[in-house]
Amino acid sequence: MGYAIAEEALEAGHEVILISGPVNLGPPRRAKLVSVSTSDEMFDAVHLHADQSDVCILCAAVADYKPAKVSPVKIKKRAGNFSLELVPTRDILDSLGQRQNRRFLLIGFAAETNDVEQNALQKLRAKNCDIMVANDVRLGMESDENELIILFRDGEMRKISRASKQILARELVNLFLEFATKTFDKKNEAITERN
Ligand code: C5P
Repeated sequence: MGYAIAEEALEAGHEVILISGPVNLGPPRRAKLVSVSTSDEMFDAVHLHADQSDVCILCAAVADYKPAKVSPVKIKKRAGNFSLELVPTRDILDSLGQRQNRRFLLIGFAAETNDVEQNALQKLRAKNCDIMVANDVRLGMESDENELIILFRDGEMRKISRASKQILARELVNLFLEFATKTFDKKNEAITERN
């Protein structure tokens, strides 16, 4: 979804920094691509670029846990069971949401299997986002089609009915721009113009 949104945002004339883990997708040509391998690298890259951005869209499925220890050498096979100790990764969206005086708009994603709207609303509040885009993963993670519920900080809600990723991404970019324009106008700020 991140790649589709990047593509549509570029198409609409916006400048895009795409921070991505390893995927089997070609990056949009005009995006500035920042490649990362681990959740810690993604955390650092996002924090490095957030303040130059008007809108941060966090839709990566970042790992929730990482190994407590990383072995520098191959771990040899032994007889019997083997357990890995996992520790929680840092939540990047939450860390941006808790930042004081952030100027960028913060958009998160919520993939849910039940009580989609309620869980997404809770996430919107807990992670202090401006917008939360929710989908029901039971419709199929790998499918190119999905339907979305978009929850806004001010209580507004929109739905986008079942459509391809490209159409959903285009609709999302329109909604994000509408919200950003409203918000920045209220603060009497223009969306940053870069050449
Ligand atoms: O709480 P949950 O992981 O379901 O929230 C999903 C949202 O949080 C997504 O926007 C995802 O990109 C973001 N997230 C993150 N850092 C993590 C895990 C999730 O930014 N370590």
